[in-house]
Amino acid sequence: MDFNDSPQEAEFRLKAKAWLSENADLKKEDSLASFNLITSEETPENFDSAHAWQQKRAADGWIGITWPKEFGGQSGSVMEDIIFRQELANYETPPDLFFLGVGLAGPTIMTHGTEQQKKHYLPRILNGSDIWCQLFSEPGAGSDLAGLRTKAVKDGDDWIINGQKVWTSGGHYSDLGMLVTRTDFDVPKHKGLTYFILDMKTPGVEARPIKQITGGANFNEVFFTDVRISDSQRLGSVGGGWGVALTTLMNERLSLSGGFGDPSLIALELQKLAKVVYINGKPASEDSVVRQKIAGYYSRLKAMDLSVKRTLSVLSGGGIPGAESSIVKLETGLLLQEVAAFAMELQNGQGIEYWGQSQHNNGFWQELYFLIPAMRIGGGTDEIQRNIIGERVLGLPPEQRVDKGIAYKDIPN
Ligand SMILES: Cc1cc2nc3c(=O)[nH]c(=O)nc-3n(C[C@H](O)[C@H](O)[C@H](O)COP(=O)(O)OP(=O)(O)OC[C@H]3O[C@@H](n4cnc5c(N)ncnc54)[C@H](O)[C@@H]3O)c2cc1C
Repeated sequence: MDFNDSPQEAEFRLKAKAWLSENADLKKEDSLASFNLITSEETPENFDSAHAWQQKRAADGWIGITWPKEFGGQSGSVMEDIIFRQELANYETPPDLFFLGVGLAGPTIMTHGTEQQKKHYLPRILNGSDIWCQLFSEPGAGSDLAGLRTKAVKDGDDWIINGQKVWTSGGHYSDLGMLVTRTDFDVPKHKGLTYFILDMKTPGVEARPIKQITGGANFNEVFFTDVRISDSQRLGSVGGGWGVALTTLMNERLSLSGGFGDPSLIALELQKLAKVVYINGKPASEDSVVRQKIAGYYSRLKAMDLSVKRTLSVLSGGGIPGAESSIVKLETGLLLQEVAAFAMELQNGQGIEYWGQSQHNNGFWQELYFLIPAMRIGGGTDEIQRNIIGERVLGLPPEQRVDKGIAYKDIPN
């Protein structure tokens, strides 16, 4: 395993660092946000700065790093994209409202779109003209995405859409959505799906933000009532939506890999906290049980960091990472949940205050505690990761798939 950059990667990292230092401010050294899990509030006030930042990146070629040059990208490698994101995490920058467009919609359109769709949408994604959202999950279809039931019915040259999506991040401010619908109920579930590009301002589309436990409301229920869209908005063939959705999901996985900070930094923050809270009149950091716990968390989180680096090393060598990234996702989520709970316990009564005046680190630990469940659900829940590890890493018997080969309309629900 070689965790170092190759000479070419090292050169790219230097270039990225140089551009970032000229165009953005470094995060303050003691800023907990240097661990890039905590997302900034995506409020409309942040939109102008987010657009300006996107345009600056686009003008200097620091957006769409892996996109082919013919579509306005840099034809760079996945590792180069990860390196840029790793460096970017050290700087204060506006929230990335364009992540779903650049990382998911763009590559999906490049693979499945018509020439006209590529010509229209791809430049607008890169220069930040459109914000995209992902209209995949439904109340009865999340882990089992292919079980979705939002219905699209052909009407002349148009389609009429009825149904509901849920957990649509940024749906209330997005311009366009990647929408998967069911167009055939008489075939098995994966075969009757069709994918569309939806203008979110189309009459009949209603996004209702959902209040989250953190206090924000970044994701939505989205309802479709007799939404009429042209067949030219279809991406891929009628009934071929599952293949198109898989392209989106594969790119989602790539976009999320490796760009987060080293999770063991969180254990170091816990160490700092333990020095300023007291147990029986003494700093908690002098308590042997607390010290053992922090050392344990540090070791386990460092193991996760090294596992991510191992995956990146495989990528860098031109290989394809295996199911081991499921182990990292599962274990990191469980660990951080435990660490945040312990940090709140260390703060005693103050631990249960959310946004209270006297909280340590501006309520970082409370926010982390509330955010981790989302991390453990999005991108595949804990149980789905366990299924993957069981089947693909441990070689255990596969799950029973009782709806295999059965027409969607005949599956009990
Ligand atoms: C922060 C966040 C942002 C999101 N943004 C978006 C977005 O922008 N667009 C979008 O479309 N979706 C989005 N999602 C939705 C996300 O993709 C789903 O929440 C996820 O796929 C899980 O689906 P579900 O919520 O329907 O839960 P379900 O699939 O209904 O799962 C419920 C429970 O059953 C368990 N379970 C399900 N299947 C199995 C199985 N086969 N074996 C064992 N246990 C099982 C699960 O682990 C879970 O505990 C987001 C989610 C989060 C947390």
